[in-house]
Amino acid sequence: MIRFAAASKSYRVEGALVPALEPVDLTIERGEVFGIIGHSGAGKSTMLRLINLLEQPTAGQVFIEDRDVTHAEGADLRRLRAGIGMIFQHFNLLSSRTVADNVAFPLRLHGGMSDAEIAARVDELLSLVGLTAHARKFPAQLSGGQKQRVGIARALASKPSILLCDEATSALDPQTTASVLELLADINRRLNLTVVLITHEMDVIRRVCDRVAVLDAGRVVEVGDVADVFLHPQHPTTRRFVAEADHREGRSPEFPGVDGRLFRLSFRGDATYSPLLSRVVRDTGIEYNLLSGRVDRIKDTPYGQLTLAMNGERLEDALAQIRAAGVDIEEVAR
Ligand code: ADP
Ligand code: MG
Repeated sequence: MIRFAAASKSYRVEGALVPALEPVDLTIERGEVFGIIGHSGAGKSTMLRLINLLEQPTAGQVFIEDRDVTHAEGADLRRLRAGIGMIFQHFNLLSSRTVADNVAFPLRLHGGMSDAEIAARVDELLSLVGLTAHARKFPAQLSGGQKQRVGIARALASKPSILLCDEATSALDPQTTASVLELLADINRRLNLTVVLITHEMDVIRRVCDRVAVLDAGRVVEVGDVADVFLHPQHPTTRRFVAEADHREGRSPEFPGVDGRLFRLSFRGDATYSPLLSRVVRDTGIEYNLLSGRVDRIKDTPYGQLTLAMNGERLEDALAQIRAAGVDIEEVAR
């Protein structure tokens, strides 16, 4: 759906070119929810601006549906942009217009629809985001979550095939964040919309994304399925994001005074709820001490990650049995 081919971006600052994005090669598939995570200044918004064609890459190309759009202009550029919806951290609503008028705005701007057609489309969109009862209110009368729902309805007005979300939940409390992310996941499924979502929170990625790219100082340092990246982060920046999401500190804990070797077990899917550990313990007579753990979901897949201290004569045997059940084991240095 979207492809970066060695696309890079430098900005001209006081006469000098300052790189914001090193050459990126990346493909975003149709219908997926693709996350881009990075700290402030990493180049996330720059990547989105290359997709929505607000900026042209300094070098390289950007393809949308196999078409090189790098140098699109005029009516062509306007048509391409109409196929891409966008939502923002601060919603960017028109404060003097009602909810319904905010959603109708891009339709009126684009032209070609009668008032009755626009009204029908607005009704449909407000119902999709659950705001039918609020159509006549003004933005100031809405909660943050409701404002973002208006933003989503407005972004979907022109029936885009791509929805870009720039820190769309960063101004919302955790519970509202969860409900907006649920709405995005629902829209992605129902409309087969390709969603590109940028955030600085791994928890946002975990809840809705299928794949993720990690941006660090203008460079894509890691790309993969969210479950792989979340359970086995490779790059130090990714590890820090995952640790934050787990409310852990970045460095591994040492557990002084605990006997045995330390292992991190990662369960995924059905294995998460099977009584594997107790079976292996019974069978091999090893001992274990549970040091930390979490059982949760990555999008729709249950997972568990436990850190255990283990010892016993048949430890290797126990590890082999656990591995054979499809559980990943990493030894944690201590
Ligand atoms: P993020 O969205 O990850 O916070 P941005 O893509 O906004 O990062 O910015 C990446 C880098 O590019 C930053 O160093 C930022 O200061 C710089 N930058 C972004 N936009 C411009 C611009 N229009 N002119 C000059 N520098 C910019
Ligand atoms: Mg940004």
